[in-house]
Amino acid sequence: MTAEREVGTVSVETLDRNAPILECRKLRMEFSGVRALRGVDLAVHPGEIVALVGPNGSGKSTLINVLSGMFKPTAGRIVFRGEDITGRAPHAISRLGIGRTYQIPRPFSTMTVLENVAFAAMFRHDGLSRTDAETAAWEYLDFTRLTPVAHKLPPAINLQQRKFLELARALAAQPSVLMLDEVLTGLNPAEIAESVDMVKRIHQSKVTIVIVEHLMRVVTELATRMVVLAQGEMLADGLPSEVMRRPDVITAYLGRQHA
Ligand code: ADP
Ligand code: MG
Repeated sequence: MTAEREVGTVSVETLDRNAPILECRKLRMEFSGVRALRGVDLAVHPGEIVALVGPNGSGKSTLINVLSGMFKPTAGRIVFRGEDITGRAPHAISRLGIGRTYQIPRPFSTMTVLENVAFAAMFRHDGLSRTDAETAAWEYLDFTRLTPVAHKLPPAINLQQRKFLELARALAAQPSVLMLDEVLTGLNPAEIAESVDMVKRIHQSKVTIVIVEHLMRVVTELATRMVVLAQGEMLADGLPSEVMRRPDVITAYLGRQHA
């Protein structure tokens, strides 16, 4: 049921300001004995940029994988725009408007950069024709500055370009929530600055963002909220400036990084 139907004449605009767009409740994920998520509650509201941080192995990628339907949670619920979507397939979740990038880029390596992006546009909720998908793909390539490598195969482009290709593919599916898993990792300072600017522009186009990021200066610059995971549990959730000062957060994560 959509928000509009639930509230009748109340405008979605009014509702959206308070209601989460994406939410998980008591989410658990176990992999043959490994408890990667141990009951995570998270509510993401429209317009937020939520930074998801935590030490390696704390469950950040798993959370994104479960929210995007890659893994069915062991327990718990996932709610998108008020609708329970727990257990739905990745393509169904993508079509609802939840997009993601992968920590390790995974384009189709036998398709060109352009074809990869056009493919994503063909399979989105409004399923563009091949020609329209290609036209749209050029726009996403322009946005991500990949036009010069449009006809190359992904193995022939550099890391930053592969990361941007992940972004272009995710954007081509027209997400309303976009989850970015370490898109800046491995990039040099100039590339990071360029990517941060790109994330800001995506956010300005009314996309709600969840970003897994280790660099605290990037979190400070981008995030409206900071969520810290430690050993599959949520340790903190609040304003970045406040969360970064918390002694338990510093011990669990920040201290280690800045030691
Ligand atoms: P992070 O992204 O925070 O570094 P992950 O979510 O990748 O952490 O991993 C959390 C825990 O879950 C780790 O112990 C990891 O080994 C385990 N894990 C993640 N994905 C799988 C999987 N597909 N199969 C088995 N264990 C996994
Ligand atoms: Mg990860």
